[in-house]
Amino acid sequence: AQRPSTIGQLLTDTVARYAEKPAVVTEQQTLSYLELDGQSTTLAANLQQRGIQVGDRVGAVIGNCAEFPVVVFACAKAGAIMVPINVKLQVEELQYIVGHSKPKLLIVEAEYAEKVKEATRNSGLQETEQPEIFIIGGENSYSHLLDESAAFKQVDIGEQDGAFILYTSGTTGRPKGAVLAHINAVHSVMNYKRRFETDDSMKTLVAVPMFHVTGLVGQLLHMFYVGGTAYSMKRYQNEHYIQLILKHEINFLFNVPTIFIMMSTSEEFQQHSFGFVKKVAFGGSPIYQQTFQMLKKAFPNAQLHNAYGATETTSPATLMPVSYPESKVTSVGLPVEVADIKIVDPEGRTVPNGESGELYIKGPMIIKEYWDNPAANQSSFTDGYWHSGDLGIMDDDGYVYIRDRKKDMINRGGEKIFSIEVEDALKSHPDVVEAAVIGEPDPVFGEKVKAFVVGPKLDPDDFTELQAHCRKTLAKFKVPEQFVLLESLPRNASGKILKNTLKETGGRSNA
Ligand code: ATP
Repeated sequence: AQRPSTIGQLLTDTVARYAEKPAVVTEQQTLSYLELDGQSTTLAANLQQRGIQVGDRVGAVIGNCAEFPVVVFACAKAGAIMVPINVKLQVEELQYIVGHSKPKLLIVEAEYAEKVKEATRNSGLQETEQPEIFIIGGENSYSHLLDESAAFKQVDIGEQDGAFILYTSGTTGRPKGAVLAHINAVHSVMNYKRRFETDDSMKTLVAVPMFHVTGLVGQLLHMFYVGGTAYSMKRYQNEHYIQLILKHEINFLFNVPTIFIMMSTSEEFQQHSFGFVKKVAFGGSPIYQQTFQMLKKAFPNAQLHNAYGATETTSPATLMPVSYPESKVTSVGLPVEVADIKIVDPEGRTVPNGESGELYIKGPMIIKEYWDNPAANQSSFTDGYWHSGDLGIMDDDGYVYIRDRKKDMINRGGEKIFSIEVEDALKSHPDVVEAAVIGEPDPVFGEKVKAFVVGPKLDPDDFTELQAHCRKTLAKFKVPEQFVLLESLPRNASGKILKNTLKETGGRSNA
């Protein structure tokens, strides 16, 4: 079959075959493919009526709900670039994203409306550039955008046109907007289907956020491509998650390892068997071997797939195939068919198989650019290869193993935190002279944020005020959970903070 060239086309193809089948199911509503198609066309027409043109940005601060995919396809049909924004961000963090992506319109869930309004006012956008905000379940209601009398005008959308801007943490402390083109997403879902061998019998339960790439592409778009059904969960909660899996006989699970770890601790989970689950995928952060073994036991009839990728690779760059030799169990799988992955030394030269280096990744699912960010575009790509910042090896059979990270990032249960952002927040406190943060190993989250601070006026036993200070500008998941007060930070001869020393000693030799 011919592949779709845009996300809108992807839905049209599926609607033609599965019109009456449920596409999205939440606790409040079920949308069949036909309804998803109809509602998104209506929304697209209303966006057009309000002046949205091809290439304009539409921001969305929406948690997991049925409206989310409606906005996805409405933007795709109107040619607008959807900017899904992490709902957990604070005003200051939102402010930057709004000011940088300059959306013409924002669709926001009521519970986030106040902070979004404040952020938008302070975003630096001119009076005339201020986006109109439509609220799901609030005043200036989103329902105004569902007026059925608006007529949809077909627009010309190329496969290289932007479909989404997803903001990821950045090395300079400011998030970078990865521009995902239609073609990136199309290749990504094809990669999933081919490698996981998914089909129209698949039912997934989206427990990870739809505003991140795994939920958006790995689950939603992937299901809509194969004609499956995406069940949606607003907030992750163990018992509820398990009840929904049992109730709907969910057969395709895809989560960050943290969710599987949390799930496995609940009584509900231990009391039931899950023989109906066919596929279990995990990615977004490294998985512990004991978690892998737990999954193997809990889902005896399922294929287990490690999925390695990033926002910039539109989700999967490597995937574990359906069957593989036991000796490859610790790998993140083989590069997806269309990917070209090389492992390079610090000079960018390919290293021999089995030697460690940074993963450079190329292919039609790789973003072409970051939004309005010449510096990042310059430093993050070489000849079309995206510099992943991940360190790993490739064996003689092409299996990839992720070993470490070059980028100074903390991965807390799949939420990525660039250290510099947290360090800047800490240093903005008047009593903090110096600060360095690292990822402290954690059995559930993989890593948690740990801060080393220098400041003679700080109380070594009570950091609640410092936490509260960080909380003013940082989303909660970024705020350090552990603190160590030091007299000075360990540095090398050129003055660079030795984070590995902090990781290894916990700062003790220095305290
Ligand atoms: P999501 O944001 O939906 O969790 P994601 O993790 O694929 O998706 P990013 O948030 O951009 O995307 O994070 C990418 C980084 O996550 C990678 O560069 C790598 O460091 C880490 N990562 C992703 N998948 C894996 C994996 N399977 N094993 C180890 N690390 C992973």
